[in-house]
Amino acid sequence: MTKGLDNICRMDVSASRAWRSRMDVAACELALLILAASPLLALLDRIPHVCLFQYFLGIPCPGCGMTHSLIAALHGDWLASWRANPMGIPLAAGLIGRPFFRLAARLRPQLRRAVERSLSQQAVVFYVGLAVVWVIRVT
Ligand SMILES: [Zn+2]
Repeated sequence: MTKGLDNICRMDVSASRAWRSRMDVAACELALLILAASPLLALLDRIPHVCLFQYFLGIPCPGCGMTHSLIAALHGDWLASWRANPMGIPLAAGLIGRPFFRLAARLRPQLRRAVERSLSQQAVVFYVGLAVVWVIRVT
């Protein structure tokens, strides 16, 4: 009986640590979002395009243009974002939304599982979209 309670307590502590770790990730995501939206990061747009994938294979990688696209989307320049890489817009939306999803799960623990599942599904949809866009761009 005591051993069973011990195991439950360990699981709770372990789950609590995992949850705190995820909240740290959320804080990092929020910090990255703030950094990405700051005017200082717009300076990245002035860095010349370097892509080893494109250099060696002659075709753009799936992430080519993503930095410019993300910065443009976070500054509300949707057309420039779309032209640089259409997946920058959902990436920006995801970066903006993720901290709020995690905060909602933090405030309403009963939502935690649904939020985690939703974030996982969003990541899968993003990567599938990235692959689809890449195939369209290179064909
Ligand atoms: Zn590239």
